[in-house]
Amino acid sequence: MLTTRAEAVVDLAAVRHNVGVLRAAAGGAEVLAAVKADGYGHGAVPVARAALEGGATWLGVVLVEEGVALRTAGIDAPVLVMMEPPPGAGEVAAAYDINLGVGSFASLHDAVDAGARVHLKVDTGLSRGGSVEWPDLVAAAVKADADVVGVWSHLACADDVGAASNATQVQRFEAALTVAAEAGLAPRLRHLANSAATLTMPEARYDLVRPGIAVYGLTPVPGMDYGLRPAMTLRARVAMTKRVPAGTGVSYGHRYTTGAETTLALVPLGYGDGIPRAAANTAEVWIGGRRRTISGTVCMDQFVVDVGDDEVVAGDEAVVFGAEPTAQDWADALGTISYEIVTRIAPRVPRRYVG
Ligand SMILES: *Cc1c(COP(=O)(O)O)cnc(C)c1O
Repeated sequence: MLTTRAEAVVDLAAVRHNVGVLRAAAGGAEVLAAVKADGYGHGAVPVARAALEGGATWLGVVLVEEGVALRTAGIDAPVLVMMEPPPGAGEVAAAYDINLGVGSFASLHDAVDAGARVHLKVDTGLSRGGSVEWPDLVAAAVKADADVVGVWSHLACADDVGAASNATQVQRFEAALTVAAEAGLAPRLRHLANSAATLTMPEARYDLVRPGIAVYGLTPVPGMDYGLRPAMTLRARVAMTKRVPAGTGVSYGHRYTTGAETTLALVPLGYGDGIPRAAANTAEVWIGGRRRTISGTVCMDQFVVDVGDDEVVAGDEAVVFGAEPTAQDWADALGTISYEIVTRIAPRVPRRYVG
């Protein structure tokens, strides 16, 4: 029974299941569960615990502060910061035993000076973080006697299965590993794969895989089913309903007009909760036993759904996304990816953990 106006129910059993699927796909590689951005909106700490229970051995964040939050919650699993850290991060990382992913001389020296462990990052083609002066970065790490736990990179097009750039990046990663080995570096963990690569590119698994979206049960390759279970269900209680005549303009701008006498249901979620305003007249929600399109403009706190002559009353459940429709359905309707749909659900929507 939903007692608040709306909630995001997060199924931790689904997270454990999904990590199990990823472990099986990873062969013998360890699994790092990416819990950045508050666990893709699901709640970093509960998801991290569930992922570790499911067999993950590492946690991935992008802010040092996110790593500190895991430590403060009492989580002692290895943590990797997966984005080029800002100056001064080394000191905090060392204090909280957080590994830093470093792809520049500045962040390497910041980490080494503070005594933080590092994963050296090579740019193999994403052209985002990572070094394009790899032999020099490796030489600098050797010279500084850095504690190099890992060597890693990140794929640009892993969700595009079979894309030529995937093979190119694996080749460049292999070359980078050779450079590191020849310089005398023997990192315990070589890692390259995100969710999509974990599930589709055995050659990219190495010693550790770094899935994120699949941990949350959303497919990294739209259209493919890997037996994952969506962890988040966003639901609300219908706040009120009303009968209105044909020709009634609905919500701001009257961007929807009723075609016949009908029932309108008010759903108390809006863009202040992370429902994209672009969903007007486009995305679907489950209400009154079937999927229906949002009617007109999504407001800050609410939107309206024309439910026709069906029996829908105040207090009925509206499922925005979960098992049906899925966050992927929302992404398809809005021209984005499921990551953005779940990650942007605002903090004001209470998370409730089950499983
Ligand atoms: C977020 C992230 C991941 C996880 O990516 P998914 O596509 O969600 O599996 C892996 N590696 C890095 C570097 C990341 O930033």
